[in-house]
Formats: sequence, C-alpha cells, structure tokens
Amino acid sequence: MRISARANSLKPSSTVAVMNRAKALKAQGVDVLNFSAGEPDFNSPQRAKDAAIAAISANQTRYIETAGDLASRELIAGFLRERNRIPGVTADHVIITSGVKMALYMAFQCLFDVPAGDQEAQELLLPVPAWVSFAPMAQLAGAKVVELPTTPESDFKITPEQLRGAISPRSRALLINSPSNPCSTMYTPDELRALAEVVAEASRTVAPDLVIVSDELYQNIVFGDVPFASIGSFASVSERTITINGPGKSFAMTGWRLGWASGSGEFGKKVVSAMTKLQGQSTTCVPAFCLAGLREALSHCQSDLEVMRAAFAVRGALMYDLLRAVPGVKVARPMGAFYVFPDISAHLHRTSAGGRLLSGAADFAAALLDEQQVAVVPGEDFGSMGHRHVRMSFACGEDQIRKGIARLNAFIAGLR
Ligand code: GLU
Repeated sequence: MRISARANSLKPSSTVAVMNRAKALKAQGVDVLNFSAGEPDFNSPQRAKDAAIAAISANQTRYIETAGDLASRELIAGFLRERNRIPGVTADHVIITSGVKMALYMAFQCLFDVPAGDQEAQELLLPVPAWVSFAPMAQLAGAKVVELPTTPESDFKITPEQLRGAISPRSRALLINSPSNPCSTMYTPDELRALAEVVAEASRTVAPDLVIVSDELYQNIVFGDVPFASIGSFASVSERTITINGPGKSFAMTGWRLGWASGSGEFGKKVVSAMTKLQGQSTTCVPAFCLAGLREALSHCQSDLEVMRAAFAVRGALMYDLLRAVPGVKVARPMGAFYVFPDISAHLHRTSAGGRLLSGAADFAAALLDEQQVAVVPGEDFGSMGHRHVRMSFACGEDQIRKGIARLNAFIAGLR
C-alpha cells in the first residue's frame, strides 16, 4: 500500500533522530553524552508544575477556546507589547499552539500557496545555517526555499544588500531567528532595523506580500553584549511580521508542548484567524492545565529563568573555550541560545579509529557516537554548507561538557 508522495518526500528531523537515538542508548545503560537536542537539563519551575497539577485537580481537563483561553492570550499580548515592544498586539492577535513547531508549521500553511499548474512556487528566504525543520515545513506548505548563505566571518548573519539581492516577486516570507539555532549568534537592533527597512521597501515595489516570520524562541537566553530585539517592533514591518515564541527553552518546559504566534494590525488578526481555523481542524486546542502552568511561569518564574540563563552563559563560555582548543576545530563564540556549530571540515576525508571514512558531518557524528558515545547533530540538514559542521547543545551540565570534549579530543587524536 502506498503512502502520499508528500509524506514520502519528508526526511526525518535530524535533531529529533539523534536525540531519540541517544535517549534509547541511555535507556540501554550506555554511557552516552548527549549534546543533540536543545533541551535544558533543568526541571520546569516548581510553581508552574504546581499550577498545572492544581488545574488538573480542579478539572481543567476539557477543551478550551481554539486559540487558547483569553487570560493566557492577554498575558502573552501584554508581554509582546511591553517587553518585545511590538505595537498593537491584543489577545485577538495571539494563538497558542502545541509547541513552537506547530506555530511555525501553521504559519507556513497560512502564508504559502501550493503552486497550481505551471505557476512558480512562492519563496521562503532562509538565512542558513538554519534550524533543520524550517525548510521541510515550508516545502510541505508548497514553498520553494531560497537559502541566504552566511559564514563564520560574517558572524553567520545576512546583510541588507544580500537580502535586497535575494528578494523577487515570488518572495513571500523571510525567516529571522535571533538568537539563532544552530549558530547562537544574534543580530543587533540596528542590524534588524536595516533588514526591516529592506523588507518594507521591497513590499512597496517588487514583493507586496512579503512578510517576516521571526522565531524568537531563545529571546530570554542571551549572554553576549547584544541586546535582544524583536524585528516586529519596527513600525516599518510590525504589520507584516509574525512573531513566534514559547516557554520550552527558557523555562525548561520542552515537554509541555506550548508555543504561540502573534501579529499586529489587520494582517496580524487575519493570519491568527487563519491559523485558528487550521488549529480547529487539526489539534483543536492546547491542554487547559498546561496553560495554567504557562501563566504561572510567565507571571512568577522570572527568577528561575534568570538562574538558567546564567548557567547557560557559564556553560557556553566553557564549551567555547574547550572547543577552540580542539585541534582542527573552528567555532564562533555563542551569544545566546545554547548551541555551538563548530566547523570540523579539517577532519573530513580522514578515517576514524573504528575504520569509518568521514566523508561529511553525518559520518563524523555517527562515528563519534559509535566510538566515543558522544551524540552531536550532523550539520547537513542545517543548510547547504552544513556538511562541514556539527551542532552541539550546551544545555547540559559542565561536567558533561568537560567529559564530552575530552572524548571528542580522543576521537580526533585517533583519526588517520
Ligand atoms: N528545537 C530543538 C533542537 O533544535 C529540539 C528538537 C527539534 O525540535 O528540532 O534541538
């Protein structure tokens, strides 16, 4: 029996695949050091857990409004206006989704048309390296992905000129992810403003329907000199930006599967209402008791967040210092999020101690896991130059970082 070509064409998520493999090995008792998925090793804040447990006991176990209850949406809208400085966000501009992934998935479904006949596909402008699921989700929605390559020399950031040169009448969305997964670099507010200007200018000329999708999941995990800013805060693009966020990474609530998407002005209401229809036809709503925990986290758990942020800053510095001392490895200093994306290309085309030829990052990661029990995500699915890189999450303890880099050194020392 066949399954659809659409499902067939989909590759498994490499971050999730390596995470599953590492978790399975751990369950079998293997001493695997897991640097794969970006998942904080902290527990969710106690107050958030207590609030969710109390909500279950109070029978908040039924369906709720499709977009999420009003109190939660108002709380999120308030944060977006006050902290993110995005003007005009109300509860009607917010939809709460099953994780940030569903917010992105539905946003793409509501932006891109599937090309009919010999029509050309609409384009997602994607600065790369980029998180592994942006491109597949956009392609599923009918988009063509146009990569905007960046380099370590440009701090993995696109320039306004580069963006201007990439925009065409088919451009439908630009993806911004700052702090970035997998590079952990950030755009300064001025750099974001300059990119916003390019989008605004293009929307008056070549690309009237061009919007920005800003994934701000790592907003609270910032430890460099660059302050966080939302691109949707700039008046020139506030009414053509979809801002996406969630509590998973900053409040250590990954398994709660909560996220949200928001907009501003007429466009914001329109896109949120389209996404709400889609949610009504798919997941219906998120669990009410999870939202009780979310409200508690957002309102009362700033100190938990700060403890974790400070720990990630220390771990990021440790990871950076240890990695750049590894022979043949080049790495940029992380400024936010909890990833490094080292260039390991100096070791490609060599053979591991276990006899595997390292033709690309996938071989490097597979051999490192088999031979040293260190799980990292191969870079191939982060964009076209990813085969030279692996991604390592430092959302784990300092001990694990030290041990992991020692094993990496041993692995590299054994290459022939
Ligand atoms: N977003 C995390 C990561 O990049 C979790 C896994 C996933 O959803 O890709 O590792």
